[in-house]
Amino acid sequence: MERMSNSFKSLINRPDFKDRFNGLKNQVLNNSEVQAFLTKHAAEIEEGMVERSLVKLFEFVNQSKNCEQCPSLSQCKNLLEGYHPRLVIQGRIIDLQYDKCPTKEAHDERKKHESLIKSMYIPKDILAAQLDQIDVEMDETSRFKALSLAQDFVEQYNSGKRPKGLYLYGSFGVGKTYILGAIANELASHKISSMLVYVPEFMRELKGSFQNSSLDQKVDVVKKVPVLMLDDIGAESMSSWMRDDILGTILQFRMLENLPTFFSSNFDHKQLQHHLSYSQRGEEEPVKAARIMERIKHMAIPIELTGRNRRG
Ligand code: ADP
Ligand code: MG
Repeated sequence: MERMSNSFKSLINRPDFKDRFNGLKNQVLNNSEVQAFLTKHAAEIEEGMVERSLVKLFEFVNQSKNCEQCPSLSQCKNLLEGYHPRLVIQGRIIDLQYDKCPTKEAHDERKKHESLIKSMYIPKDILAAQLDQIDVEMDETSRFKALSLAQDFVEQYNSGKRPKGLYLYGSFGVGKTYILGAIANELASHKISSMLVYVPEFMRELKGSFQNSSLDQKVDVVKKVPVLMLDDIGAESMSSWMRDDILGTILQFRMLENLPTFFSSNFDHKQLQHHLSYSQRGEEEPVKAARIMERIKHMAIPIELTGRNRRG
């Protein structure tokens, strides 16, 4: 605004002011949007109002409207990035009101969407996956089943139910993590927040923060998020402490609070149970493993994903 009124002031001080003033006025009055506004509000336009409002009208004419002149938000040419002007009658003058432009609206909407998906150690492309864009090949009935259950989950959750999650298992590269990412995105578009956690890295990091307070905070977030997705469970090397005190506690809490949880794994139930039975020290603890498995089975519907390896 400052720039505009300064240039206007210097204009007034010049000897050829009158010509320039008229030139400016013509430029403003020839603008089709200004004309449309004046026609629409003809009854309210008082004598001298246009002249009194010339600075504002000039500013209006020179700003981009509906993003017509700006290639992107960061290249927005307007005085206030992401806002475009609208003409309004304000007392005895025509004034401007600045509203969010379409690009800024879309940008803010996207940010809000992203803020609904939290993740730990998950690649970016996974977070861009879209449920309705996942291609299903003719022979991939398991993928089709997984996608339709995922869709059911979102619909039911959205209508206030707390359905079971999915336990997606199958070999490396079939697209388990990708489907979890797509579900997270679909949930976000219904304003439901979720968190996707790559378990091996999460466990590694927790080991590092063993005796520090950030551990409790990290575990707390994972425990309480509305929808949790534990990616690649079974690929970690898990101590008894992590299995019982971390994973066990998280699952116990979520089960009691009825908070849906998804899993992906290279292992089926039986293989995962075996993996969880052996501590890093080589001791066999089948009862404790069985207790974790019970919770997992209670919380998620198992689906085997088959098909080709989609990694490059
Ligand atoms: P998994 O978790 O089963 O090991 P990923 O979900 O990581 O497999 O998928 C492997 C790669 O294939 C990833 O780069 C992912 O982006 C891609 N991918 C997986 N499923 C699809 C799909 N249906 N369409 C396109 N790309 C896919
Ligand atoms: Mg994966």
